[in-house]
Amino acid sequence: MIDAVLTAAEREIIATARAFAERVVAPNAARWEWGRRYPLEAIREACAAGLNKIELAREHGGLGLSFTCKMRAFEEMARHDYAFAFALINVHNSTARFARDAPPTLRDRLLPAMLTGELIGCAGLTEPGAGSDFGAISTSARRVEGGWVLNGGKAWITNAAVAGLSIAYAQTDPAQGWRGIACFAIEASRAGFKRLPAFELHGGHAIGAGGFALEDYLAPDEALLHPPGRAFKSALAGINGARTYVAAMCCGMLEESLRVAVRYGSERRTFGRKLLDHQGLRWKLVDAATDLEAARLLTYRAARMIDEGADAVLPAAHAKKFATDMAVQRISDCIQAMGANGLRADYPLARHLAGAKIAAYTDGSIEMMNERIGQALGATFGVGG
Ligand SMILES: Cc1cc2nc3c(=O)[nH]c(=O)nc-3n(C[C@H](O)[C@H](O)[C@H](O)COP(=O)(O)OP(=O)(O)OC[C@H]3O[C@@H](n4cnc5c(N)ncnc54)[C@H](O)[C@@H]3O)c2cc1C
Repeated sequence: MIDAVLTAAEREIIATARAFAERVVAPNAARWEWGRRYPLEAIREACAAGLNKIELAREHGGLGLSFTCKMRAFEEMARHDYAFAFALINVHNSTARFARDAPPTLRDRLLPAMLTGELIGCAGLTEPGAGSDFGAISTSARRVEGGWVLNGGKAWITNAAVAGLSIAYAQTDPAQGWRGIACFAIEASRAGFKRLPAFELHGGHAIGAGGFALEDYLAPDEALLHPPGRAFKSALAGINGARTYVAAMCCGMLEESLRVAVRYGSERRTFGRKLLDHQGLRWKLVDAATDLEAARLLTYRAARMIDEGADAVLPAAHAKKFATDMAVQRISDCIQAMGANGLRADYPLARHLAGAKIAAYTDGSIEMMNERIGQALGATFGVGG
């Protein structure tokens, strides 16, 4: 297990995440889903337990621990609910990025509330008209004296249902393409920000995914986090990590689904035998267990490369592609192995199936992983120029 290479402090925060997930997430996840609720109180409780500060630099009030540690902690939480884990990791990441990139005056004003979860953060790249093709965003930013005026809107933004601060991207000069994109800290309390109703999303209500419109929103100079020319690259800088932790979360969901299905199969009997004693059914779960092993190895390799500062583009793309794809198939197999009972809300499997499907889009779709891996095929296999 990869935890063996982590420090005692890192193993301790992973244990905290596991205990928190068992105590708070597992018993409430179905209620959040069925009640169509964003779990704000639980997010704030997780912040109080330090789960939004794992990778945040110590100088900004964080724990300063490794990426692998953060990934493992969120794998433990996704074991019980992908939606909650994904919402919380977006709180974590937006806090860390804001702390790193904001000028001191802005940081001093907003960071304390972000650390407690009083102010929820989000990352706004996607728009109604541009998802995979991030370079095609059309939210505009026009330079004026003392700042920038933004017009446009964002969609499919995790935590948008409640977020008070968005790290959002806008185009300053369409003729420049990706080089014209800049990054801003957008405050929901300022004039010109209009929150839109959150999406109704099967299996993902706790993500709080939604959008907002910007109508002559004035972002002061201090809100420019990355100028044109640097913002696009900064947006992509964390993408290998995001793909890797999404893969880890899929491993967490499948492991829990297998645990539930194996326990069920060892108790339920058909035709005079335990379900697990029917070879055809047992092999289905065995195939799922093999895929889980393979996905973990890909995922943990990518995580270590990220911590070592190595080029993790391809390992992260392979891990995300394989883990999300296999999770959809294998969680479905676990449900099948439980018969009709596998669908009941008393078990997390149907929710995890929806979670795995959502994971196939977040931080780059399976097709985009193929594109990334495909661009490197020649170099990988030493063919072509
Ligand atoms: C629950 C949830 C939370 C999200 N949270 C955030 C967030 O916090 N911040 C944020 O900015 N975004 C977020 N997203 C958006 C996510 O990043 C996008 O859904 C993703 O980038 C895909 O974009 P799209 O959905 O617009 O699909 P499109 O880009 O419209 O693509 C549609 C389909 O076509 C495929 N496709 C597109 N281009 C190609 C091609 N060249 N070759 C082959 N196939 C192609 C895609 O893979 C996809 O299957 C979230 C999405 C979800 C579902």
